[in-house]
Amino acid sequence: MANSLKINVFLVPEEGQRFVFSEGDAWFQGRFRDDEKPGFFLEKIDVDCLITVTSGTVFIKGSFSALIDICCSRCLERAKLPIGSDFTYTLIPAKAETREDLELTPEELETSYYQGDFIDLTPIIFEQIILQIPMKALCSEECKGLCPNCGVNLNTSSCNCKLNVVNDRIAVLKNFRIKK
Ligand SMILES: [Zn+2]
Ligand SMILES: [Zn+2]
Repeated sequence: MANSLKINVFLVPEEGQRFVFSEGDAWFQGRFRDDEKPGFFLEKIDVDCLITVTSGTVFIKGSFSALIDICCSRCLERAKLPIGSDFTYTLIPAKAETREDLELTPEELETSYYQGDFIDLTPIIFEQIILQIPMKALCSEECKGLCPNCGVNLNTSSCNCKLNVVNDRIAVLKNFRIKK
């Protein structure tokens, strides 16, 4: 299955080749080392892309949609989050000689290279997934999070801490007035 994401550049027909595939978490987690696992699960991903090749330059245009299982950064409960995006990549064949001493133009910096006859869609799809993972994932925009005082999940239960905080503030205010 993993090999199906490798494409022989020379076998892509002139009109292009479409790749449609779905994968799950085993495919995703299997690519990470045990000590480098991402902090979320990939429930499902659907990818649809079109590969075209023009005189050795590979153009990849596609989109993906996925469902991830990630910890809400406010309440710490697991949440299922839909992600997705459109993407385009341009890959040119890596030249035999080293390019290190060559000045790269801004256009070239946006271009990636491929070695040999094959390109692998896997790192591209991985990059797209990682780019769409929110820095602070939320189970919902309205997530109330945890009480900073007692730690209860304010989405599912309530506590009296807020009341006490308000009382404390009033007490502080009273002290302030007294001192004046
Ligand atoms: Zn939450
Ligand atoms: Zn509380």
